[in-house]
Amino acid sequence: MIRFEHVTKRYADRAGGGTGGADGPPAVDDLTFDVAEGELVTLVGPSGCGKTTTMKMVNRLVEPTSGRILLGGEDVAAVDPVRLRRTIGYVIQQVGLFPHRTVLDNTATVPALLGWKKARARERAAELLDLVGLDPGRYGHRYPEQLSGGQRQRVGVARALAADPPVLLMDEPFGAVDPVVRERLQTEFLNLQATVRKTVLLVTHDLAEAVRLGDRIAVYGQGRIEQFDTPATVLAAPANPYVADFVGADRALRRLAVTPLTEADLDPVAGPAPVGDPAPAPGPVPAPVLLPPRKGSGPLRENPAPGAPRLPLGVSLKDALAALLQDDAGLIAVHAPGDPARILGTLTTAGVHRALRRRTAGENGTGPVGPR
Ligand code: ADP
Ligand code: MG
Repeated sequence: MIRFEHVTKRYADRAGGGTGGADGPPAVDDLTFDVAEGELVTLVGPSGCGKTTTMKMVNRLVEPTSGRILLGGEDVAAVDPVRLRRTIGYVIQQVGLFPHRTVLDNTATVPALLGWKKARARERAAELLDLVGLDPGRYGHRYPEQLSGGQRQRVGVARALAADPPVLLMDEPFGAVDPVVRERLQTEFLNLQATVRKTVLLVTHDLAEAVRLGDRIAVYGQGRIEQFDTPATVLAAPANPYVADFVGADRALRRLAVTPLTEADLDPVAGPAPVGDPAPAPGPVPAPVLLPPRKGSGPLRENPAPGAPRLPLGVSLKDALAALLQDDAGLIAVHAPGDPARILGTLTTAGVHRALRRRTAGENGTGPVGPR
């Protein structure tokens, strides 16, 4: 959907005398990468590494010095910049809402520019406000200064989505709000993205945000992408010492959140639960199904107690570990997604450890984590 082909940008080197030409050091240097349709790619790296420059070349706020950028197969250099920008949603940290326009009119900005009838544009704006969790009846007629920072940021997202652009560019979209609100906005945005499935480039300097939001992440060094892969792979197998240093010593902990629980991490259950055991949990607790022991899986483990915590396969190792740590037995029953009665096996802390070790060794298991 978005393709960078050998894209380099040099700004004019004002410090060095300023000829006005593009004679500075490269802000981005020979970038080549693809973003698939419906994919969310995060660009992460320290300040000044070229993330914003990369993003602004997509909607031609900045022109590349060399190379080209294709959008849906079309070279953006051939598209009128104004028209181009109306087909690309753009969300920035400072939000940039018009202070003298209501929330509803701010949200309807692009549809209005595109010549939609006023009533239709406002109707669409109200829909979008609803989608980002702002009641249009309550907030639509307020002015931006009458909103909290988090609410303004939501309006920014609604405005970017209003004309239903296939592509969304987001530059530090949640950077200006406090950590608690930021996490809430991230969660909301992930839910929203699950519905609207835009092709998204999102810039952040925050590794945790990049890992949480990205289907894939591009780790920037100075003007170059040092690694471009899924969060789980970047954390499990940094491509070079720079990336290893950037993702830091606590990467094993971060990996917990982006590594899904798979069947290979489980111990088999030993057999049907003892009959007549009183179920401490409310509601009926189905007995675990009998699974044949797997080859080489060693001695059979204990059954999960009828009231033991249950989790579906596919949750993150982080959620699984959290559930384990809350339970005295140190054992949780893992069931098939959507079928709590079908117990696939049990998970212990040893299983979590094995899963992390195995993935360090470069085996797969870097698929998408279920509910993030
Ligand atoms: P990031 O978004 O990763 O912080 P930027 O893309 O904003 O990085 O900047 C990359 C480099 O390009 C920096 O060295 C910055 O100073 C330089 N730069 C950015 N914009 C301009 C500009 N308009 N003129 C000259 N240099 C610029
Ligand atoms: Mg920037």
